Amino acid sequence: MNSFSPNMLKTFETCQKKYYFKYVQNISVPQPVSFFEKGKKIHALANYYLKGADISNLLRELSFEEHQIWENLLNNEFFQKSYVNSEYNLSAKVGDFWIGGRLDALMKDSFVTSPLAGEDCFQSETRELKNRKQGEGVNYYILDYKTGSIPKNPEYDYQTMVYLICADRLLKDYGALKFVYIDLKNNKNCVIEFTPERRGEYTEKLAKICAEISQTQDFASSSDNCKFCEYVKFCF
Ligand code: SF4
Repeated sequence: MNSFSPNMLKTFETCQKKYYFKYVQNISVPQPVSFFEKGKKIHALANYYLKGADISNLLRELSFEEHQIWENLLNNEFFQKSYVNSEYNLSAKVGDFWIGGRLDALMKDSFVTSPLAGEDCFQSETRELKNRKQGEGVNYYILDYKTGSIPKNPEYDYQTMVYLICADRLLKDYGALKFVYIDLKNNKNCVIEFTPERRGEYTEKLAKICAEISQTQDFASSSDNCKFCEYVKFCF
């Protein structure tokens, strides 16, 4: 069975007909290159940087505006946390369905310990780990860089719900789990904390829309969203 990505769920909610063209008929309509260019560059740069690659050549290719955006990301408090993984594929099962996708980056609080008298660094870290297993856990942050706007309803955006549910299953023993939209244009963060209540609520919502998609045979049009739809030529 296929896995439902946040984009698939969002598309179905926006217009079922569009979902049909895009994900059932697999018709891809090229978008203007400039449309995604800035976002793609910053995402690629962030991924190489976090993986420890030499990015000096890529930096020379950035425009003035892109440089500013990159500086905003570099100085972001969440981007400065400890790296766990980036461009990371995650999936999880909700009800009878698989959901998943690729998140921009997963970070955690720095694991810095101060040795007590008589301890070396290794002993200090072992002590800290032992303490954490007794209840603290590590705090994790799912990062999503936005060069455009952040979602209007970020707590219930499919991206938020899918990645938090997937990371929750993967990480299990953690202190806190947060989704962070990094709004690079306005240099602001929108932080959503995962809670046991949200686990139940998100799982229910995701299972519901996945079931609805899988049961749909007649994909309805939604005329509210036609103005900027790339499938308009196929539709009417
Ligand atoms: S043109 Fe309108 S109805 Fe057709 S797929 Fe796009 S949004 Fe849906």
